[in-house]
Amino acid sequence: MPETVYSTVYDKGAVIFKQGDHGQHALFIERGTVDVIIQKDGADLTIATLGAGEIIGEMSMIDDAPRSANVIATEETEVIVIQRSRFIAPLTSADPMMNLILRVVLTRFRDAQNRYSGISRDPNNEDKSLDEIRRLAFERINDERDLMQGLEAQEFEMHYQPLIDLKTRQLAGVEALMRWRKPDDSFVSPGHFIPLAEYTGMIVELGRFALETSLADQVQFVDAFKQSFPGARLPFMSTNVSGLQLSDLEEIDRIAEIIHRSGVDLTQVKLEITETLMVENPTHAAEALKKLKALGLSLAIDDFGTGYSSLSYLHMFPLDTLKIDRAFVNSMDDSESSRRIVHSIVGLASALEMNIVAEGIETETQADALKALACHYGQGCFFAKPQPAQSILELIRGGKTW
Ligand code: C2E
Ligand code: CA
Ligand code: CA
Repeated sequence: MPETVYSTVYDKGAVIFKQGDHGQHALFIERGTVDVIIQKDGADLTIATLGAGEIIGEMSMIDDAPRSANVIATEETEVIVIQRSRFIAPLTSADPMMNLILRVVLTRFRDAQNRYSGISRDPNNEDKSLDEIRRLAFERINDERDLMQGLEAQEFEMHYQPLIDLKTRQLAGVEALMRWRKPDDSFVSPGHFIPLAEYTGMIVELGRFALETSLADQVQFVDAFKQSFPGARLPFMSTNVSGLQLSDLEEIDRIAEIIHRSGVDLTQVKLEITETLMVENPTHAAEALKKLKALGLSLAIDDFGTGYSSLSYLHMFPLDTLKIDRAFVNSMDDSESSRRIVHSIVGLASALEMNIVAEGIETETQADALKALACHYGQGCFFAKPQPAQSILELIRGGKTW
């Protein structure tokens, strides 16, 4: 890996960089001083003298344009060099709006500087990448506005996907999955709007809606289930909760309030949490999950196996259920190593006395293999797709088993 951060020392009088140079790095001055010099009316003009703690060459880190000034060490000067490659990854993964604003501010600054120095901008030399950055920023801001309007217009609804007991092939519970139905009846993929809702913080409000709606529907599911399957173990409602909803411990009080108001028996409530929450801030996560668990509900770790250090986290948190990510289930058919991974996950979860759900079951072969591995529950299109509350009610009333 090439060095992206290193120190260099310049002697007094040394040229650190020249106007017109192609800059691939910025410099933090650790000690010493430099003069920043531009050409004005054919003469040198010192526009700044900078010392320890200042940064130079930062503009070309953003837009890759040639250096707009000469920089000369006025005494022995030590700098820390930061390569552009070190900076470009976080810049491009940042909010596209922030990226655009940085670029716009910089372009205007360069224009002002050029006007001052009497240089006119060459319109043929416009930075094309700015168009792409602008397009991304507008796309994002449009999406955010749509999401906000969708929320106001109550375009969100909950669908439910059955979870099946692999031994008895009976309904064991359902997972609540959010849907965004546009006025033209098309759906926006949760893979698209959930990350945006998390990014903007709107997931907190959407998460409350998901919980309120799913628990209200759960009351109906349980009533119907008691009629169709007297004496059978009642199905649970498993609702997804974003890490952001748990980042504020007070939000947990609101979650508790929603659950209590619903009147649903806590033993029938399960919350699905991804391990990102636990990996990013284990101390906070432990506290948040303990607080939730104290309410008397169950907790599931979602998408298990896709994140990092999964195994080491399991025993640290009060988790009841482990959901094996569909990527493993999917590749079980033709990959011996996937079968072995699933086998060991099931073994581990059983040792920790957790329930195990396999997600994304699409074939009978997968369902049978998972049952043979002693996996408790299965979920996937092979059994049933996510569907509106009304069709779940019809399944239950019809006494459906799988
Ligand atoms: P997830 O929690 O892992 O949900 C399971 C996803 O697998 C769902 O995608 C479901 O439709 C899909 N699925 C079900 N059966 C099959 C199958 O047989 N094969 C395959 N390939 N996929 C199957 P969906 O509904 O698009 O949701 C995507 C993700 O969005 C969810 O993944 C979850 O992370 C998030 N999400 C959905 N609703 C909510 C919500 O109310 N709150 C939060 N925080 N996140 C949600
Ligand atoms: Ca889930
Ligand atoms: Ca999942």
